[in-house]
Parts: sequence; structure tokens; C-alpha cells
Amino acid sequence: MNIILFGAPGVGKGTQAKFISKKYNIKIISTGDILRNEINKNTILGKKISNVINSGKLINDKLIIKIIKKYILKNNLKNKILLDGFPRTIEQAYSIDNIGLNITYVFELIALHNTLIKRILGRRIDSSSGKTYHVKNILKKRKISKDKLTIRRDDNIKTAKKRIKIYLKNQKKIIDFYKKKSINKKIKFHKIDCNKTIKEINENISKILDI
Ligand code: AMP
Repeated sequence: MNIILFGAPGVGKGTQAKFISKKYNIKIISTGDILRNEINKNTILGKKISNVINSGKLINDKLIIKIIKKYILKNNLKNKILLDGFPRTIEQAYSIDNIGLNITYVFELIALHNTLIKRILGRRIDSSSGKTYHVKNILKKRKISKDKLTIRRDDNIKTAKKRIKIYLKNQKKIIDFYKKKSINKKIKFHKIDCNKTIKEINENISKILDI
């Protein structure tokens, strides 16, 4: 079983990816995390891409496809993987077929524009654990020390709006591509309403994957 989580920035792909990974023992490949890791380690690649990421634009297709191919080969990944944040363009979607990854499920996660913005602006990362929280839930978590919380550099209103705009520009072609594939049952395509609580979304995804 290989899964693609597709959806706008802030829709909750990362949160749902962790849930699916834990419940179904699936490895998450998050291109955003791979890229941020390069930036944090200050590698040549990290230096090259940090401005692009911080400005909310996409890394060019040729480069991101090369990065993901290398990652998949290096870790010998073929099955039981979940793609979070890839593909983001139709060229990237085509590249998955070329890599030879067999996609079983595509989940299109959907939420209202306001919800996306609120989730992006409220996102806080606990730098000691790497875990992500929404600011409104942090007060309940006593173990988290507030001075360890960080905000992603691209989680500001201007960049968030730009990221959502870029997503909307590319969305249709990708969705059409996978809907077409789902007609002859090559993949299963499901829309998931993410204007709900995390638990409700978890349950709706489970209903599909448990079959
Ligand atoms: P994310 O953590 O998924 O929100 O990704 C953060 C940023 O990493 C994006 O805004 C892009 O700049 C870059 N990025 C992540 N995945 C991709 C991708 N598939 N194609 C191009 N850029 C990407």
C-alpha cells in the first residue's frame, strides 16, 4: 500500500501522515521535511533552496524530482510509503510513474481558505521533540516549554497566501490525473473533508484504509 496525501498548505497533511504511519506501519516521505533538514544542516543543497522555501515558492521540478528519486533509491523504498507534499505539480505526478512507485490511494484533503490560514499561522514546533502543535492546543500541554517553541519561517500571512495560491494553480491538473487513474481502478481516489476535528478526520481515513 502506497499513499499520496494531497492538499493545500495548512490542511493537516503532516498530522494525518503521522496518524496513518503509526496505525498502518507506513513510512512517511515528507519533501518539506527533507528540504528543511538540508537547510538546518547547512548543506550546499540547503543553502541553494532556503530562499525559495522561505519565500513560499516551489523548488523547481527537476531538482525536487532528483531529490526524491535519490531518497527512495537510497532507502530502498518500494512499498508501505506515504508521500506528504509530493507531487505538487503535474510533472512531479508523472515522475512518480517513472520512478516505478505503485500508488494505491490518493487522498485529497480539503479545508476552507480561512481554516488553512488559521492552521498555518497557529503552527508551532517544539524544537526539542520536533513535534508540531497548534497554538490554541499548547496551553493544555504542560510538558511543553514555551521558549522551545519555534515558528516556521514560511508560516506568515504573506507567504501562506502565496503558498495557497501556488497550490490552487497546480491542483486541478493533478486531481484530474489521479481521478482518471481511479476510473479503471488503478488507484483509489478519496476526498477528505478536513474542516473537522483531527479525530474525526483520522476516523474517516481509517474507514477507507481498514477495508
Ligand atoms: P511543506 O513542509 O510541505 O509545507 O513544504 C515546505 C516548502 O518546501 C514548500 O513551500 C516548497 O518551497 C518546498 N517543497 C516541499 N515539497 C515540494 C515539492 N514537492 N515541490 C517543490 N517544492 C516543495
